[in-house]
Amino acid sequence: MPIDENPVDVSTEFTNGDVSFWYRSIGLDFRPSLPGDRDADVCIVGAGFTGLWTAYYLKQAQPDLRIVVLEREFAGFGASGRNGGWLSAELAGKREAYAATHGHESVVDLMRAMRGAVDEVIAVAKAENIEADIAKDGLLHVARTRAQVGRLGESLRYEQDWGAGPQDFVELSREEMDDRIKVAGALGGLFSPHCARVQPAKLVLGLARVVEAMGVTIFEQTTVSRIEQGRAVTDRGTVRAPIVLRCLEGFTASIQGQRRNWLPMNSSMVVTAPLPQAAIDQIGWRRAELLGDYAHGYMYAQRTADNRIALGGRGIPYRYGSRIDDRGATQNWTITALTELMHDMFPATSAVPIVHAWCGVLGVPRDWTATVDLDRATGLGTAGGYVGSGLTTTNLAGRTLADLVLERDSELTRLPWVGRHVRRWEPEPLRWLGVQAMYALYRTADRRETEKNLAGTSRIAHFANMITGR
Ligand SMILES: Cc1cc2nc3c(=O)[nH]c(=O)nc-3n(C[C@H](O)[C@H](O)[C@H](O)COP(=O)(O)OP(=O)(O)OC[C@H]3O[C@@H](n4cnc5c(N)ncnc54)[C@H](O)[C@@H]3O)c2cc1C
Repeated sequence: MPIDENPVDVSTEFTNGDVSFWYRSIGLDFRPSLPGDRDADVCIVGAGFTGLWTAYYLKQAQPDLRIVVLEREFAGFGASGRNGGWLSAELAGKREAYAATHGHESVVDLMRAMRGAVDEVIAVAKAENIEADIAKDGLLHVARTRAQVGRLGESLRYEQDWGAGPQDFVELSREEMDDRIKVAGALGGLFSPHCARVQPAKLVLGLARVVEAMGVTIFEQTTVSRIEQGRAVTDRGTVRAPIVLRCLEGFTASIQGQRRNWLPMNSSMVVTAPLPQAAIDQIGWRRAELLGDYAHGYMYAQRTADNRIALGGRGIPYRYGSRIDDRGATQNWTITALTELMHDMFPATSAVPIVHAWCGVLGVPRDWTATVDLDRATGLGTAGGYVGSGLTTTNLAGRTLADLVLERDSELTRLPWVGRHVRRWEPEPLRWLGVQAMYALYRTADRRETEKNLAGTSRIAHFANMITGR
């Protein structure tokens, strides 16, 4: 069994890994593995949000479809059960890349679809009785240096260029920022209402149970090694299906022939014990806004339903050869760095123990831009490459993949991220060197902007963006 089936005491015991903190207080349903060869109409590889949302919308549209989901560990084992719980409308990928092929308006359509997807996830969770600590109180980005204030302004103008209005983004003064969440050293903030806080493991496990109740078969402890036209080959047998969908995001490199496809980028998180009342009083954070910043080595955080702070960001970005530390244990220096950042932003947490640290992988395409694709000739499809903005995007991707499978010409299938083909990453050691260099440069840029109190973005960060194509 990958993790303890019984909920553990969540109060003070420190754990590193064990998939993620989000599983500490909830039990898991383990499902049987594939008992041998079988046939299906649609075979989905990977039981994270991409695979499960796809199964959900397919089954809803066509209840008689025989859908099999193959999962190496258990549903929700990947990034879907480890993430920061930002159910956000932030677009995965570069708008300019989408606009280059489909035009400006198509990107505006995609942005609108993302905002709709936030509400769609909330509505489905409600309709299907999935309790996942969901609260839609928006997203707050804080600026803590002069250079970050500059990027806040640039970011607002950029959003406005893409059609955003005052209903989408509101600039906050230092006092207004303090009024919502007191972040030490805050100089200002940017608020968007299009984001909800989620307990991701509750959502993904709930969704798995719902699709199973709809008649989808999920096989766990079943590792797919090859995906070919008409079949997925596993260690337990072969599933033959005219449609095979690869929904593996950061784990894509584990499939034969896919090693240089999406790069498995690592992200790490820590979470505190429940905050004592004195700390809550000092920090504020009465609502459930998600919190991010404008540092190059960005952070992301949420206040959990039981008043902890879960904070993620910096850590080892990438392991040589696209390897994955998939049980979620992260390095001590990462835990230290994230803990120091927590204390720096929220001095009132200094005396509150960190009770859990973990990491996970997300999928990064060479052009940092997401894809939904189905090749009708082979029946092979995929969705992913969300670069850290996957929680909402997987819902939109799942609905879109379902329309593609059902051969529906819809608004979704005309979105500009459909059918994109991206060049592969460089072979090693270039891949490893490039990512290490990028993160070292971003760290240096953040340090220089803080120490030298720079008014604008450090040239080092521009250089890092240029060499990585970010
Ligand atoms: C630490 C962290 C924080 C994040 N925070 C946020 C956030 O706050 N907001 C946001 O929008 N996004 C966030 N993301 C990104 C988001 O979680 C992902 O983009 C999203 O969950 C991807 O879902 P998925 O279903 O495509 O992939 P996954 O959830 O990774 O699912 C892939 C599944 O495939 C299985 N698998 C792997 N290999 C095989 C194989 N060979 N055969 C069969 N099955 C296999 C895995 O076990 C896994 O269950 C974060 C990611 C991480 C790691």
